[in-house]
Amino acid sequence: MLELHDAPLAPLTTFRLGGPAARLITATTDAEVIAAVREADDSGTPLLLIGGGSNLVIGDKGFAGTALRIATRGFALDGTKLELAAGEVWTDAVARTVEAGLAGIECLAGIPGSAGATPIQNVGAYGQEVSSTITEVIAYDRRTRETVTVANAECAFSYRHSRFKADPERFVVLRVRFDLENASGLSAPIKYAETARALGVEPGDRVPLEKARETVLELRSGKGMVLDPEDHDTWSAGSFFTNPILTHEEFAVFHARVEERLGDGVLPPAYPAGDGHTKTSAAWLIDKSGFTKGYGTGPARISTKHTLALTNRGEATTEDLLALAREVVAGVHAAFGITLVNEPVTVGVSL
Ligand SMILES: Cc1cc2nc3c(=O)[nH]c(=O)nc-3n(C[C@H](O)[C@H](O)[C@H](O)COP(=O)(O)OP(=O)(O)OC[C@H]3O[C@@H](n4cnc5c(N)ncnc54)[C@H](O)[C@@H]3O)c2cc1C
Repeated sequence: MLELHDAPLAPLTTFRLGGPAARLITATTDAEVIAAVREADDSGTPLLLIGGGSNLVIGDKGFAGTALRIATRGFALDGTKLELAAGEVWTDAVARTVEAGLAGIECLAGIPGSAGATPIQNVGAYGQEVSSTITEVIAYDRRTRETVTVANAECAFSYRHSRFKADPERFVVLRVRFDLENASGLSAPIKYAETARALGVEPGDRVPLEKARETVLELRSGKGMVLDPEDHDTWSAGSFFTNPILTHEEFAVFHARVEERLGDGVLPPAYPAGDGHTKTSAAWLIDKSGFTKGYGTGPARISTKHTLALTNRGEATTEDLLALAREVVAGVHAAFGITLVNEPVTVGVSL
């Protein structure tokens, strides 16, 4: 177990932002993780869990407590059953399942960060979400001080949300179990229209697994959604805002506002989101509010490749980033009456 004091946290985040932690512990076994959590809890010290730091916005003042970096390793495949240690690098694990001929997470290739963080916001992209393949999550429960098994049905998964995100002080994910599909080297049915188009197939078709993974990686790279230290468009947390989910009434009001602003007959993006709800596109809202790709003149700007990613151009502070985020939220609200919600977890700051 490695322990550092007054340790910079910015290098541990994909934004490369945030001040130091009073104490930084790196744990490489489940026992070390649990020991560090128990020690912090016993002494009443605030605890910050860090995986790959790809969904974290840490304040410039840093974190006055123990930051615990989870660096455990473990990839165990038994038939279609996969168990990943929380610290496994997610995109590498995806590549290994594709190599093993198993379908179910191939479209989640290229998502940065750790396996243990995937259930937190029910990671999803290109028509797949981990909630479809996770069977159970092994976690340390800080309330009961025991290791528990949380079955999929108890995870309360929804769009970019879960029980773990709703109650961040309670569970420390140690391992994640999945049940994948052996479809004789083929992918799961391709759900996302953009991926199907790029693959030259119809939605619902299956394609060779590796082809699906490669195509997703290509699409993601074109949007700055695959980490590249040389490319400031990827010094981000991916999508900075979640796609708003509206009731039918809210959507009708929004649609009227769109027509008023952009002209009769303009239909905003609308996707069924269950229970009489409609999901619209945060990227579309941002763009139509005047925040186009590359927007900004300061050290924090909108990505030149995707309106939904706020980025650090190299010299930004967290306050610069938040100022840009607040400007976007206010602009979208003024234009369309919708309040965007940030997707990354904020530490010591808020929008
Ligand atoms: C370029 C880019 C593209 C992205 N694309 C996508 C995408 O397509 N889809 C998507 O869903 N996300 C995407 N993201 C966001 C991010 O990669 C995911 O949310 C990822 O799962 C975060 O993993 P992490 O290990 O980096 O988590 P961190 O950023 O380290 O932590 C995120 C949150 O999870 C908590 N946490 C971390 N590990 C644990 C654990 N073991 N137990 C309990 N809590 C824990 C942290 O305390 C924090 O609250 C993208 C990010 C970037 C930078």
